[in-house]
Amino acid sequence: MSSSIKIGRISGIKISVHPTWIIAFFFIAWTISSLFERSFDSWSPAQYWTGAAIGSFALFASVLVHELAHSLVAQRLGLPVEGITLFIFGGVSQIRGRYKRARDEFLVAFAGPLSSLILGALALLAWFAFRPGRGEGDPSLLLGIIFYLGFMNIVLGVFNLLPGFPLDGGRVLRSIVWGWTNSESKATRVAANVGNLVAYGLIGFGIYQFIDGNTFGGIWMVFIGLFLQSASRGERREERLRSSVGQVPLRAAVQRTPQIVNATDRVADVMSNVVSRGFQQVVPVIDDGVPIGFFTAADAERFPTIDWMNLSIGGVIRRQEPYAVQLADDAIEVLEALQARNIQYAMVLAGDTVVGVVGQQELESLIRLRQSGGGASVDQPPI
Ligand SMILES: [Zn+2]
Repeated sequence: MSSSIKIGRISGIKISVHPTWIIAFFFIAWTISSLFERSFDSWSPAQYWTGAAIGSFALFASVLVHELAHSLVAQRLGLPVEGITLFIFGGVSQIRGRYKRARDEFLVAFAGPLSSLILGALALLAWFAFRPGRGEGDPSLLLGIIFYLGFMNIVLGVFNLLPGFPLDGGRVLRSIVWGWTNSESKATRVAANVGNLVAYGLIGFGIYQFIDGNTFGGIWMVFIGLFLQSASRGERREERLRSSVGQVPLRAAVQRTPQIVNATDRVADVMSNVVSRGFQQVVPVIDDGVPIGFFTAADAERFPTIDWMNLSIGGVIRRQEPYAVQLADDAIEVLEALQARNIQYAMVLAGDTVVGVVGQQELESLIRLRQSGGGASVDQPPI
């Protein structure tokens, strides 16, 4: 997700937080505080609000554990993990590449809910071991939070096992159908259709809750239902595309880039030596050896030609940590990743070496060409 804020790295996996997470944090804290207020009479407002803030953070830490479980299992199975993002509906692990076997997909998908169920069970065990007996009054702040976490982690584990894409249960279902029928595309279709039903079910249940007086919970449920519905629609669209074109090798859409320029280079020089000669439309830019973005003629054309002598490349481009893909990647996957991040170009690497650039437009036309049956001729020789 673009515009996410990076907060750290665990086992090489980038952890970031999307700005929408803040909304979820306050919403959850508010829910917890009213729960504590109702359940524990003797707690002061300061106590239940402190408990709510800690509880909301701890709940997101639990979500992070859940995502780490997915990501670490994926890493173990040799799938590259790009990062984990926490956002308004919880968390998402960006796992790249496709599953080679149904068993691998099952293990990665199941690891998350399993970790939540284990965490929940441990917290509830602690609660039952240390909770105050009858007549002993309300539990301590810590114990109240532990109870809430135990309960929520069980909910998290069970909810995520609902068989709707992109919930884990949808992936678990897909992997089981895949292993059973040996057909990946049939598995995706089945899982996407079941997911759609689950999404309608959630929306219906949300409306019922809303009418029943649970305003926020109802609206929340409807939003999650709509989110699942659009995700399962995307999954089906991808499956239809994939079954019509199969694997599309990325290398056919890659523009080779013999030239990489420095941020300090003059715009006038790069325009006359690289871009205007027509052999390179998109030029990777590095600053101190680190890629910082791409330069195209459009960047220069925002300024009068007369200024090009005085402008540096670094001063006219949109600086953005370039998104890197591997030459061996699948074109459909790369296109989706670019669309999801709302970025135009990706740096193409072979191992650690920059070998070219690929853009959304080239990918779209390559895939369209494949769909219309003009496939084989567009394959370029290996770079
Ligand atoms: Zn999960």
